[in-house]
Amino acid sequence: MKTRSLFSSELSPWEEADRDDLVSARVVFNLPVDRVFEYLVPDSLRSQLRVGQRVRVPFGRGDRPVVGFCVDLGKPERREGLKSVGGLVDPDPLIDEHMLELTHWIADRYLCTWGQVLDMAVPAGVKKQAGTREMLMLQVTPAVLTQAPDLKLSAKQAAVLDILKGAAAPLSVDDLTKAAGCGTGPITELRRKRLVEAVSRRAFTGELPPGAGGREADLVLNPDQQRVFDRIAGVIRAGRHQTFLLHGVTGSGKTEVYIRAIREVVNFGRQAIVLVPEISLTPQTIRRFESRFAGVAVLHSHLTDAERHQHWRRIARGEVQVVVGARSAVFAPTTHLGLIIIDEEHENSFKQDSVPRYHAREVAERRAQIENVPLILGSATPTLEAWRSAKCGAYELLRLPKRVVGLPMPPVVVVDVRHDPISKTGAAIGRALHTAMRHALDTQGQIILFLNLRGYSPLIWCRSCGAALKCPHCDITLTWHKEQQLARCHSCDYKVPAPSRCTACNQPGVRYLGTGTQRLEQEVRARFPQATCLRMDSDSMRQPGSHDQALEAFRRGDVQILLGTQMITKGLDFPNVTLVGVIDADTVLHQPDLRAAERTFQLIAQVAGRTGRSERGGRVLVQTSCPAEPPILLASKHDYVAFAEAELEHRRQFDKPPFQHLARVIVRGPHEPEVQAAARAMTDVCRAATAAAKLPVRILGPAPAPTAKLKANYRYHFQLAADDVAPIQALWRAASPEFGALRNVEYAIDVDPLNLR
Ligand code: ADP
Ligand code: ZN
Repeated sequence: MKTRSLFSSELSPWEEADRDDLVSARVVFNLPVDRVFEYLVPDSLRSQLRVGQRVRVPFGRGDRPVVGFCVDLGKPERREGLKSVGGLVDPDPLIDEHMLELTHWIADRYLCTWGQVLDMAVPAGVKKQAGTREMLMLQVTPAVLTQAPDLKLSAKQAAVLDILKGAAAPLSVDDLTKAAGCGTGPITELRRKRLVEAVSRRAFTGELPPGAGGREADLVLNPDQQRVFDRIAGVIRAGRHQTFLLHGVTGSGKTEVYIRAIREVVNFGRQAIVLVPEISLTPQTIRRFESRFAGVAVLHSHLTDAERHQHWRRIARGEVQVVVGARSAVFAPTTHLGLIIIDEEHENSFKQDSVPRYHAREVAERRAQIENVPLILGSATPTLEAWRSAKCGAYELLRLPKRVVGLPMPPVVVVDVRHDPISKTGAAIGRALHTAMRHALDTQGQIILFLNLRGYSPLIWCRSCGAALKCPHCDITLTWHKEQQLARCHSCDYKVPAPSRCTACNQPGVRYLGTGTQRLEQEVRARFPQATCLRMDSDSMRQPGSHDQALEAFRRGDVQILLGTQMITKGLDFPNVTLVGVIDADTVLHQPDLRAAERTFQLIAQVAGRTGRSERGGRVLVQTSCPAEPPILLASKHDYVAFAEAELEHRRQFDKPPFQHLARVIVRGPHEPEVQAAARAMTDVCRAATAAAKLPVRILGPAPAPTAKLKANYRYHFQLAADDVAPIQALWRAASPEFGALRNVEYAIDVDPLNLR
């Protein structure tokens, strides 16, 4: 691997360093310490150590051995007092030059350390070489050159020797005997003659099942798809970077365009990375890629460490054409990347909610720039961030305005439930929805019902004193799970048997209010006892594989009514679904979050996409108490552009993202006064630093976070807001070292947060 110094142009890379000179390694650690440390490379390691490998080095006062990534090699800046590298952890580099640059950028962008990013970018299974073991392998010795011609060898021995001489790497006994068509006798004899020796090598113990893909032919694109594809293909052939925003309604044939674009890069011997939300990594999606391409690696969360390691190795060796995976697949170690695609770009799961808190869209865009390849972002409901970038010309906007087979978008009926009897009885299915369900069942159609609350009821409430039962560790009401007879916290999973008396006033008469998926299921079964009904949420789908089985049952028609949470809104394509019901569109709309309107629009548009996929047609009923709210009204008209324009204008007026970048600092700890004091002190430091450097950053807060207590920690937050991320980065670099020692308090910063709870 070629290495380039990321630090200073005077440092010569190892290849050019004078052999007599000392060589030092620059090392970063998976620690919140934003520094690069320097170590001398002992002579014994000089020929083996390369940039991108991990090393074992002494660290800290006690010189305890710690593992870090070697990010550069060069002449030491000083000679005195440098400790030495203790040993190598990896036989080969895990990170190449592009990935070094990318991870360094992420650390800057998301205000964490380089070591933290590197550690995350390499899967755990790769770091611990999962699925491999030391095995004895055979190779020829140098004596073969001098002695072999003079020795009398049997035909078998000569054959074995020929195979070994021609092998690129040492072979196992098994592979060798198979190749030579002999037993172990000739090998033993060759070892005795010292022409063959055994060496210890790491090898995989299991094998991935062979991919049987690549059999199906591509479809002929329709004129809209062709127009879009031509734009993309032009950029691919020109070999340059460009980000495309592909705005296409659900079922408009976006995936088919991706496949053709991938074909284009694969034909040039390059690889493509396709990111999809984890929830969309269904067998249906995977089959679609595997049926078209021979070498597909699928990276999902159910892989074992060993399987992930195997895929990683195959990708790094260029044996894979297409990598399909969730967020972290953006770090796939492709050798000749040709294209990155992010499907369902608007999905929140593309943002990681632990350090490093990166967004895969931003990382993909940076990676595509570094490697000079196109990036395609696809969605029926793009984020306002992407929409704005397209409007101002940073992205090229491509559109697929119609569904493929000329089918119309399904009609969406907004049902105002304020005057429905259910507003008094507390039931979930209103009159109009009941009638529509009856009709769908009578005409042999299938039904999807969406509700984003799991459990039986989200509120356990005392009739006497009006108190709601809350988690003792979180500022969150407990949800009644009737099946298990437990009250559970959906944040920390605290569980108690639901009390028969109020925990506050000790009066009997506790009531369970509101409807979760369990209660909805009960109501559906009561209303339609003849129909088959299946509930899909994270409680009912705990068993591995149950998700796929459920969808398969629905596809076969064994299930008539599918009800559930987000799980059922994504990417499902069932032609027989003639009715989709949204039980309560207000749950998302009323969240205290600047993106509540955007999410409501996305939700309705996405669930609406689950119907009307065949000539049978289909329709959507949305129950709400706010029928005039723009996201609900405009989603019912399938008018994304009108919604995006209005919402962007609103955000611009109120100086909110995407017109502003935010960084949110969460301060938390077990004692509220300490947390509050620390948040105040940190905010003061930030204000002083802003003033001192005249940075164009606004500081909002501190205030208790909307969820003021979580997992036994009190939470305060403050926000840094600016037109650009650069001044926020500058402020944080200046201010955070000044926070000093904080007792019993931790803090975390989230740049461009999606979650403001
Ligand atoms: P999207 O990704 O935009 O939701 P898909 O690519 O899944 O849309 O296409 C929707 C359906 O139309 C799929 O069943 C797909 O096989 C089919 N389809 C897409 N493009 C074509 C085409 N050019 N000719 C025929 N069928 C197509
Ligand atoms: Zn809790």
